[in-house]
Amino acid sequence: MPFHSPVRSLSRSFVAVAEQVTTHSAEETSAWGREFAKQLQAPVLVLLSGDLGSGKTTLTKGIVAGLGAAEENDVTSPTYTLVHVYGKDRKVFHGDLYRIETFHDFETMGLEDVFDKPAILILEWSERFPLKTPWPAVRIQLEHAGGDSRRISVL
Ligand code: ADP
Ligand code: MG
Repeated sequence: MPFHSPVRSLSRSFVAVAEQVTTHSAEETSAWGREFAKQLQAPVLVLLSGDLGSGKTTLTKGIVAGLGAAEENDVTSPTYTLVHVYGKDRKVFHGDLYRIETFHDFETMGLEDVFDKPAILILEWSERFPLKTPWPAVRIQLEHAGGDSRRISVL
């Protein structure tokens, strides 16, 4: 029997936008994020992976804007601050594990507060440390595809 992970079934049933797309500008990536956001319902993890500059933060701008939690321009990289929170009801979190070196760093970055109530957590470099939570997850991979092209795949 093949194993169907919750990630896969969630992405199959929730994602109405194309599951693999190549964008050709930052604007196209954030626009895809705004559309993608329409499928998201708290609680959910949006786990972003991809090299530096592949567009994780750019995509997050679109997702946060699509959720109506903030303007795109107000969404900035949480590389140093580790976690940003958006929305009047503080329901959209944006984290980045890039600078997290040790498991101790990971445990003390304040992510546990995120799980107090159903929320949407968008996480860059999520593959660096495994999150222990029963929340469903959608994984999105971003890849450089030459010049300003980026391949976005919902895994
Ligand atoms: P990451 O968070 O993955 O390190 P960023 O979103 O911070 O990446 O940076 C992506 C950079 O690439 C930005 O400077 C953006 O303007 C540029 N860029 C060029 N083309 C694209 C595209 N198609 N999608 C996303 N970003 C793009
Ligand atoms: Mg980033």
